[in-house]
Amino acid sequence: MKKKDLERVLAKIPPHPKPKLELEQYTTPPHVASRLLWIATVTYEDLPGELVLDLGAGTGRLGLGAALLGSTRVVLVDVDREALKLALKSARGLGVDAKIDAVCCDVRKLVLSREAVCVLQNPPFGVHRRGADVEFLRSALRLSRVVYSIHKISAVDYVSQICEEWGAKTLMLFEETIRLPPTMPHHERREHKVKIAVLRAARTGGHYRAAGF
Ligand code: SAH
Repeated sequence: MKKKDLERVLAKIPPHPKPKLELEQYTTPPHVASRLLWIATVTYEDLPGELVLDLGAGTGRLGLGAALLGSTRVVLVDVDREALKLALKSARGLGVDAKIDAVCCDVRKLVLSREAVCVLQNPPFGVHRRGADVEFLRSALRLSRVVYSIHKISAVDYVSQICEEWGAKTLMLFEETIRLPPTMPHHERREHKVKIAVLRAARTGGHYRAAGF
């Protein structure tokens, strides 16, 4: 599969029909999702993987993309059952449903019997619930050594520093300006632009130093 084909397929995975303000449900734009997945595959060879997690999976663009790229098993995790149902429907449509599991739970509570090869996540930016982005990173680095994560550009220095304190090295892979549709009641304009950065965080030692684990 070529990168452009991947982007085209991901664009057909529908966004959440009724996004909820408190969960910051924004769908990852297909060009950002495909570029992230491409770098994970070609540059770092983290994908395809035996066990890949998509945390805050929503309707599944990142996780289904990982499955399309040949990952053996992909677990989608989200608190929103409706979003996961849509993701599973898309997985069936794309013929990758045999590789996909969906777990409806809070990422902070997820426990797995083995470490994932990598985590992919477009977490809440922490605008509605402060610190949600950092909590996602903490969970991700607990569940896997390697994490691909999308953040507001203004948060990059802060999250990189926190990752470092937890024993993980962070690299900014690329930046983008994305246009978000007025999916939330507080959006007055038709669209607003947000600068985002895609990061790769990798634990350097075997030991995970985040407080609480
Ligand atoms: N990754 C998706 C959606 C990103 S929006 C996509 O690419 O389209 C962030 C997602 O995180 C939402 O679907 C929201 O329901 C989910 N979410 C927010 N807080 C969560 C939590 N504590 N545990 C699990 N999922 C959560």
